[in-house]
Amino acid sequence: MEAIHYTVTVHSDESIRSMVSNCLKDLGGIDQLITPSSRILLKPNLVVAKPNSSGATTNPLILDALIEHLIGTSPCEIIIGESSEVGNDTMKAYKVTGIQDIARKWKATLLDFKKDKQIPIDIPYGKVLRRVLVAETVKKVNYIINLPILKVHSQTTVTIGMKNLKGCIADKEKSRFHRLNLHQCIADLNTVLIPDLTIVDATLCSFNWELGGMPVRLNTILAGRNTLATDIVAASMLGYRGDEVAHLRLAAQAHLGPTNIEEIDIISSKKIKKVQPGQNADTIKEPNYHLPELEVIEKGTCSSCKGALLAAMRRLHKERQSPDCTILMGQRLRDRECEFAPVFKYGTVKSKKPLVSIGQCCHWVADHYPIKHIKGCPVKAEAIYRHLKTNS
Ligand code: SF4
Repeated sequence: MEAIHYTVTVHSDESIRSMVSNCLKDLGGIDQLITPSSRILLKPNLVVAKPNSSGATTNPLILDALIEHLIGTSPCEIIIGESSEVGNDTMKAYKVTGIQDIARKWKATLLDFKKDKQIPIDIPYGKVLRRVLVAETVKKVNYIINLPILKVHSQTTVTIGMKNLKGCIADKEKSRFHRLNLHQCIADLNTVLIPDLTIVDATLCSFNWELGGMPVRLNTILAGRNTLATDIVAASMLGYRGDEVAHLRLAAQAHLGPTNIEEIDIISSKKIKKVQPGQNADTIKEPNYHLPELEVIEKGTCSSCKGALLAAMRRLHKERQSPDCTILMGQRLRDRECEFAPVFKYGTVKSKKPLVSIGQCCHWVADHYPIKHIKGCPVKAEAIYRHLKTNS
């Protein structure tokens, strides 16, 4: 059997317009990639309503440069589609990032997938997912161009092209992914949602976590027709091999692309930029809003609740407050029940701090144990802040 060639092109230190142009040229040119009169979906990463300068969202100038090329193919329609993380407003994210202006400029359709009709699609080769609800538009377009931003992720190590497709599914499915097995669900989803092109924004990258913070300028754009191959090259910029990232490893096992970087033809005029020494992504995964008395026991917490907790902690940190309690959160907290259950069951107290459970998925703790609970799914930062402040 003939070996499959995976090509990924990498351009650095040019203008965004020229990096996008050169990437497309290296992949054969826009005419080879897109047939005329097509309906084309652009899927950026707008997880939160923060500008690209935060390192959390795709640079709008990449969409601007790309659409200029797409217009040359006389498309029937260009659609920009996204569903921000649970609890976040996609239309606000379009506005804050400037993508709304780009859409206006090119008369592209701006779509909030949360409001799109959700249709079930079968996943015949899924390991844990057999069916998933996706925005109908995703299945109605002729082409999908995936436009992730390169970031470290608190649960999936990195978030690039494969993880970005989670923004095409219904909000309730996002929570289900966390409950089942996030890594395997991402790999399963990628067996049925297959972008035709992935362009990775590595101009400004969050080496901190997925919701932005401490962005590092790499001024690089990568592109490839195979999402897994593109992700493997992009992950190497953060210092990770493909097999060190669970969802990439599982995607390779599902034969969605190469298993390692050696199988990829990389077109690059310069040495690929990587995390600078001392910027080890592992050591700076989360912002340091250290509150000495606060303990957190969590497993499988969604980014939105994690973000809310960190926002509350940052506020308390600024006010020099330090709440004295233990927070319990995450959809898989049951795996860590032994760390807090003895407080009630045996009176042998590992932590004598008052316990507080956060979020709908942890309501069961408050049902079983006499502890405080903060409601919500996701929980609001304000609610956590108010509760913790009274415990400071
Ligand atoms: S409460 Fe938070 S962590 Fe739990 S399912 Fe909802 S968003 Fe996820």
